[in-house]
Amino acid sequence: MTESGLLIIISAPSGTGKSTLCRKLISDFPNVCYSVSLTTRVPRRGEVQGKDYFFVSKNEFKQKIKRGELAEWALVHGHYYGTPKNFLKKNLVKGKDVILDIDVRGAMKLKKRYPQGVFIFLAPPSFSELERRIQGRRSNSEATIKKRLTNARWEMGRIGSYDYLVINDRLVDAFTQVKSIILAEKSKVKRSKKKIQKLNLL
Ligand code: ADP
Ligand code: 5GP
Repeated sequence: MTESGLLIIISAPSGTGKSTLCRKLISDFPNVCYSVSLTTRVPRRGEVQGKDYFFVSKNEFKQKIKRGELAEWALVHGHYYGTPKNFLKKNLVKGKDVILDIDVRGAMKLKKRYPQGVFIFLAPPSFSELERRIQGRRSNSEATIKKRLTNARWEMGRIGSYDYLVINDRLVDAFTQVKSIILAEKSKVKRSKKKIQKLNLL
C-alpha cells in the first residue's frame, strides 16, 4: 500500500539557483528523485550526460515528441527542453517524489496533465543579483546572458500561476522554505488516504 509520490515543479529564471537547490534537496530527501530532462543545447563545462541533462540532437528530440515520449516540452532560449514521460510515471507510481526543474511554459503544460503537482516559483532577490549569478557561471556569451535576462522579466510575470513563491536570497533560507513546503504538502490529508486506511487497521 503506497501513496502516489509527490510531483514537485520548480521554475525560475535561468541563473536563480534551481540546480543548486535541487541538488541539495536530493541529497537531503532520500525519497526525492530528479527528473533529468532532454535538451538540444550544448553541455556547459562540468555538465554530465544523463546526470544534468540528456544532451540530444534536434532530430532525436523531434522523434521523442512524435512518439509521445515527453510529458511536456518547450523551446527555451532557442533550444528544446523536455521531460521524459516514463521516468515520471514509473517513479510516482512507486511512491517516489519527483522534482522537476522546468521553465514556465512547460510547467503550465504539466499543470493541465498533473493538477495535483506542487508548483514552486523560485525568484532571484533582484535582477542585478541574477545578472551577477549568470555571469558567475562564465559559460554564457554576452548575447546569451542578455537573452536570459530578457526572458527572466517575462517569466517573473507568470508567478501568479504558481502555488508557492520562494526568494533565493540566502541559499540556506530558500532551502528551508522549500523543505517546509514539501513536508507540509506530504502531510496533507488528501495525500494520506492509504496511511489513514493503515491506521484504521491497527
Ligand atoms: P539555475 O539552475 O537556476 O540556472 P544555478 O543553480 O546554476 O542556477 O546557479 C547559478 C549560480 O548562482 C551558480 O554559480 C550558483 O552557485 C549561484 N547561486 C545559487 N544560489 C545562490 C544564492 N542563494 N546566493 C548566491 N549564489 C547562488
Ligand atoms: P539551462 O539551459 O539554464 O539549464 O535551462 C534553461 C531553462 O530550461 C531553465 O528555465 C530550465 O528550468 C528549463 N528546462 C530545463 N529542463 C526542462 C524541461 O524538461 N522542460 C522545460 N519546459 N524546461 C526545461
